[in-house]
Amino acid sequence: MTTNRRREVAVIGAGVVGLGVAWRAAQRGMDVLVLERAASGQADGAASPVAAGMLAPVSEADVGERALLDLGLRAAAAWPAFSAELGDDVGYRTCGTLLVARGADEAAALEREQALRASLGLQADRLLPSAARKLEPALAPHVRAALHVADDHAADPRRLHTALKAAALAAGAEIRADADVARLTCDGTRATGIELADGTAIDAEQVVVAAGAWSGEALGLPPAARVPVRPVKGQIMRLRDPDGPGLLDRVLRFEGGYLVPRGDGRYVLGATMEERGFDTTVTAGGIYELLRDAIDLVPGIDELVIEETAAGFRPGVPDNTPILGRSPVIDGLVWATGHHRNGILLASITGELVADVLAGVREGATA
Ligand SMILES: Cc1cc2nc3c(=O)[nH]c(=O)nc-3n(C[C@H](O)[C@H](O)[C@H](O)COP(=O)(O)OP(=O)(O)OC[C@H]3O[C@@H](n4cnc5c(N)ncnc54)[C@H](O)[C@@H]3O)c2cc1C
Repeated sequence: MTTNRRREVAVIGAGVVGLGVAWRAAQRGMDVLVLERAASGQADGAASPVAAGMLAPVSEADVGERALLDLGLRAAAAWPAFSAELGDDVGYRTCGTLLVARGADEAAALEREQALRASLGLQADRLLPSAARKLEPALAPHVRAALHVADDHAADPRRLHTALKAAALAAGAEIRADADVARLTCDGTRATGIELADGTAIDAEQVVVAAGAWSGEALGLPPAARVPVRPVKGQIMRLRDPDGPGLLDRVLRFEGGYLVPRGDGRYVLGATMEERGFDTTVTAGGIYELLRDAIDLVPGIDELVIEETAAGFRPGVPDNTPILGRSPVIDGLVWATGHHRNGILLASITGELVADVLAGVREGATA
């Protein structure tokens, strides 16, 4: 058994959440080690490299999710400075979002969506189909209703992941790949570090679990100390227009899916929402349904080249609101997980919030 020097902070998981925490903690002078089980840093099923990249607190707003909405709005407001500070091109585009409906049922649903947003004081403007098609001429003529959410934008999660990794390293964090954390080590109810699957022990004053959809795994914790995180599978496909950019400028959301333009002729078409455990298969049915709806709404999609299909796991939690803060059961254990559908959006503030917790400035996301 090899032993490593004692760290101030050990972070489990090198997705956008773990890397963001490592970056911000290292910036504050903490001695940080990130442990990632994938050899390449991109695990099979990890959410960050698969995500579409919508920064969409207004489009995602739902009944009874006020805390998540407030967090999302703060995160969206922080994005311009966050992307500028990363000093890298993370594909941040202030493109806005169009929500579109086909048929009477979808149009009625969109009307309810607008009423909800109005009741929450959020800006979402009703457009006539002709006005929607003026904004996005590639839309099919049978679009029946549209909402324009001018403040919901997009970024490129893969570029963000790369930029966060570089920033964390530059700030002095160490990132160790091929490091599968088997369990937390504890002295009574005090975390003392972690142990890898190969038996390596690493002592740490504080341990951050940023293991995405795997954060609900036991990690040697007693049941009362675990968090209810589960994998919510999403299948996506990446498309490229051989004619370059221009087919769509804005993010397009519709019943059952979305299209996110990268601004360079590439698009992400997503995504299924499936409760299937840790199953990374891409299915004919999943891809068929995404393509069917997308081509129905934007016939020009027919001509695009399929570059990739993939599946990833959103770290789902019962109230859809991330778990950020100290464990009430184990001292020295900090959670940074449960970002579900919004981890790219929330990346702009998660690192700072959790670094505050590590520094003892706050207990959780709101306190
Ligand atoms: C299809 C899809 C589309 C999405 N679209 C959007 C979007 O448009 N906008 C948005 O804001 N969000 C979106 N999301 C959500 C977003 O991707 C996630 O919320 C976010 O990436 C979660 O990041 P994470 O770092 O917590 O998890 P992950 O990226 O999954 O990273 C967790 C890491 O922990 C590692 N790990 C796990 N267990 C261990 C262990 N025991 N030891 C060592 N390492 C371990 C894994 O290998 C993995 O690399 C989408 C997600 C999916 C799946």
